[in-house]
Amino acid sequence: MLKENLQDVEERVACACARAGRSRDEVLLIAVSKTKPVEMIEEIYREGVRDFGENHPQEIRDKFPRLPDDVQWHMIGHLQTNKIKYIIERACMVHSVDSFRLAEEISKAAVRRNRIMPILIEVNMAGEASKYGIAPEDTESLIRQIAPLPGVHVEGLMTIAPYTDNPEDNRSVFRKMKKLNVDIRAKNIDNTDMSHLSMGMTGDYEVAIEEGATMIRVGTGIFGARSYT
Ligand SMILES: *Cc1c(COP(=O)(O)O)cnc(C)c1O
Repeated sequence: MLKENLQDVEERVACACARAGRSRDEVLLIAVSKTKPVEMIEEIYREGVRDFGENHPQEIRDKFPRLPDDVQWHMIGHLQTNKIKYIIERACMVHSVDSFRLAEEISKAAVRRNRIMPILIEVNMAGEASKYGIAPEDTESLIRQIAPLPGVHVEGLMTIAPYTDNPEDNRSVFRKMKKLNVDIRAKNIDNTDMSHLSMGMTGDYEVAIEEGATMIRVGTGIFGARSYT
């Protein structure tokens, strides 16, 4: 069943890339495995997926030793500074940096372990009060502040678009994200590369791809609905 789900997602991704005149390898599919058991992750791994997303640091810590070394773990959820220790040697990227303080703490932890953590800046593009993320107009100055930190490397932007039944509703959000990324990239801020746009989830990843996503984060579409009981 998971295999069929994945095939369906892959087909839609390929079609969206084709519609947008983009090559399939410009878009990384991250399978969001939060709350899902290791056995299900292994099933998707066997189909060739290597990138998995989690939103709780403890889940990365716990699942990490139980899966092959070539799994790339993406930290996509809100990260508290006291939980950085769980992911600093295990995650390949933190998608959810929205403050200087968090970036500074990640940088310190990374330097202590002799690594540089790739990060994305989370933008609250739709201005939803319930969401984490920095306001679009403050994003460039936050990046300028974070860029000199030795233990992190800013590689682009991430957003969680509003929940909606109609993915077209989010097209303008994705378009504004693309523009913000292009505008900031054009400033050529030292020690940043702004090559990634992490946007699009089960309900809207096709529109996100059409609008320039380089990473999509798909949970329900691959693993089925989550139960939090
Ligand atoms: C849960 C989650 C996703 C995946 O959501 P689905 O709608 O299940 O695809 C993507 N991004 C973030 C940050 C998440 O927390």
